[in-house]
Formats: sequence, C-alpha cells, structure tokens
Amino acid sequence: MTTPTPYQAMQQAVDIVNDSEHISNKIAACLFKGERSVACHNLRPSPLKKKFGPDIKIGQSSQFLHAEVACIFAADFATEGASLCVTDPFCPNCAKAICEAGIAHVYIDHKGLDKDFAKRRGDDFESLSLLMMEKAGIPVSILYRKDQKIEPLISPPVLTRAGSAQGMEFFDWDSSLSIADYLQKFRERQPHTAWAVAKIYETDEKITGILAFEELTTGVTPQDYSEKNNNSEKYRLPVDPLNRLMFYCARKGFSIADNYAACNLYPGSRSLVNAVGFGLETIIVGENAPDHDPHGHEAGIILQKNGILNIIDL
Ligand SMILES: [Zn+2]
Repeated sequence: MTTPTPYQAMQQAVDIVNDSEHISNKIAACLFKGERSVACHNLRPSPLKKKFGPDIKIGQSSQFLHAEVACIFAADFATEGASLCVTDPFCPNCAKAICEAGIAHVYIDHKGLDKDFAKRRGDDFESLSLLMMEKAGIPVSILYRKDQKIEPLISPPVLTRAGSAQGMEFFDWDSSLSIADYLQKFRERQPHTAWAVAKIYETDEKITGILAFEELTTGVTPQDYSEKNNNSEKYRLPVDPLNRLMFYCARKGFSIADNYAACNLYPGSRSLVNAVGFGLETIIVGENAPDHDPHGHEAGIILQKNGILNIIDL
C-alpha cells in the first residue's frame, strides 16, 4: 500500500459519487491518513433503508448521512490528523463533524463549487462552514484534478491542532454501576442541560467513562454564535452532545460499549439518524425535554416503533 495523494483521494470520491441513492444531491468524500483511506457517498444507514422509502423524514431530518460523516463513521482508523477530500462544499453540520473528528485539512473539488447545490447553500458554506474551519485552524483548499493544482481557499491564522476537544470529561467507570446509574448521578450534578454519556473502549480495550456536552467547535466564540447563528434558518453552531460523543470516538478510534449511550435531554432528529449510522442500538434518555430540536421526540418514536433504535426513558 502507498499513501494516497489528495488527487488520488479525490478521485476515489469522484469514482463513487454517482452510486449515491440521493436524487438531487450526489456527494462523495474520501478520508485518508497515511496508507489508509475510506470513501463514501451520502447514504442511508441500512436499518433505515430496509424500513423506509428514501423520502420519509425522521423527525425533521432526512435519512441520509452526509458523505463526510459517513466517512468519519466508516473509518477503521482514528480520524484525528486525517485529511478529507469532498466533491462539494461541505454544510455547517459536516463542518462541525470535521472539527470534532480532528480532521487536519479539507480539499474540495473545484467542480463542486459550480454546482447548483453549492449556489443554493453557498451562504451557509461561507458564513458558517468556513468560519468553523478558520476558527479551528483547519485549512481548506480547492483541488483541480485535471490540472493537478491545489489552491488554498482559507489558510487559518491559528495553528492549534484541529478539533481540540473542549467540553469533554472522562471518568473511571465503576463496573458495579450501569449506564442508567451514571445518567442519574450526572443528572444530580447537571439537571436540564444537554450532555451525553457512554462507556467506551479505548484502542487498548481500556474501559473509560466519557461525558460530552453541547459545545461550540474549537475557537468559535459565544459572540460568533450570537452574530452568525441568526442568519441561518437551517443550521446551528453548537454541536449536539450525542453527535460530539460519536465524533470524538471516531477521532480517537474508540468504540462505544454495547452500542449503548445515554442523553440527559432528548436528542435531535439529526443526532438520532447519525446514531443509527454509527451503529448505536440503545439510547437511554433522562428527560423528554428536547436538547434543541422539537422534532427529536417524533424521530425517536419512528425509530423505536420500527425496531431500529431502542429508546428508554429513565
Ligand atoms: Zn454535510
């Protein structure tokens, strides 16, 4: 095996982009690090594909994992320090995933900048996606396959490691306690706030407790949040706790024990769809109040009723 160049990685993405089941937005990405690489197009996780037609919404979320997230979840290596090639400008939700997964460089195919989708979503890409990259210190480049040329789109001034994790806590897992016990304990400390907890296996199989809070991505300030977030109807800047938990595990190459996680507040539709894509099977919820998405509960009921995700109220 040899280390793929960004051109080869982009080609891997381009080669599969038309396999996407999505009618209007076919997007593919390739995540690569050293000799390893993984390419995915946007896709529906198989438990959803088996049960639903492609147009059915899960709460307010589509069933599709975005290509960038699909790659992060599918990687059989820790994503921290990896590079990502993507056929199109990435949406703010993927920008959050890129930050949280510790990705070091993003390349966008130059053809992606001309497509309709890019034009429609261009505002969010420029004002939110690139803001997050800039703040986190993740360079973004435009890649011209035919001309074998790479041009920087943004070269962030700050060179801290991309995706440095704020708002994460670790604890020694007491094997006599269950995840419900830990949910209860942390609820006593922090009721009515958004966080997720899981028992995880580190790469050396060591067991650790991990707690992820709702948080802005690295470098994004509360002021950015108040200025920028009012401009986008569709996206929000903070990262949902359950998403953070999964992206962090992908970043470090950790796995979630028993595919079981707990959330203090009811997770949003997009987090739940991502959870299915990540392979989670059970989510225990501390209270039915939504962490932000009023349709989260609706999404949970659809997934529960169809035997896709077991959601337990504490
Ligand atoms: Zn996206």
